[in-house]
Amino acid sequence: MAAPARRAEGSVMGWLMRVLARCQWVPAIVAMALVLPSLSSAQLVPPAGKPTPAASTGSSATTALPSVRDQEIVQCLPGEIRTWGDGRDRPIQTRSLRFAYRHDGAPLWFSEPQVLALVRKSAEAWSACGLQIAVIAIPRGQVPPEDAIQILWSDTGSRGQFALANVTARSLSIGPALFALLRERNPKYPSDQTLQMVLSHEMGHFFGLMAHSKRCVDTMSYYDNGKGERCALRDPRSWGSVVEYRSILPTACDIDRCRALNGPGR
Ligand SMILES: [Zn+2]
Repeated sequence: MAAPARRAEGSVMGWLMRVLARCQWVPAIVAMALVLPSLSSAQLVPPAGKPTPAASTGSSATTALPSVRDQEIVQCLPGEIRTWGDGRDRPIQTRSLRFAYRHDGAPLWFSEPQVLALVRKSAEAWSACGLQIAVIAIPRGQVPPEDAIQILWSDTGSRGQFALANVTARSLSIGPALFALLRERNPKYPSDQTLQMVLSHEMGHFFGLMAHSKRCVDTMSYYDNGKGERCALRDPRSWGSVVEYRSILPTACDIDRCRALNGPGR
């Protein structure tokens, strides 16, 4: 469990590196690399140059036509579901599960209703898999129900990553330190989107999706295998059109893969 999760969040670290790079503050990046050695690991960086017109934004709201990335999010074509083979998918044992969110230790700039709404949004998006997914809030100092998967803020549990799923321990740990670092280095970046993405990604592991997707846009993706092989795009020119190509919510391929694994016909 930990290994695949770590690899995915390694690519999130790569993403952080790119976000930080946009600050144009090279000494900070060097200092960061000293503090966080994994930042220096080879990750795919968007190529320089102008984005293609068709992929000039990450949102269809500001363009007349949906971008390639937008299309990849809502549509899964035959043959597009491929993984890096870094984990073995397995169906989950129950058709209904619940996540229990505990706000203790959260960064001050995230309110409890705000994070709870993000957790609910990811859960609702994943429910398209055909599973019943409930979300409850745990009041401060109270213990979550035994059957629930706990979502908590813990640098120990997240092991220096934005978030980490421990499927065996039924815990999803979010790392306050890395979110603090992101805010410090790039206060204008919408960290709630990062949080939405890591919540969606880590939840996917609890639905049995253990291998990481090779399709860049999938919320379960990671961008390269550390050996020079990169994730797949319908149009290679769309890479670099947005800071983070990965979707913040599960894509059509993420959902199809979850259905194939956990659907009634399996
Ligand atoms: Zn992962």
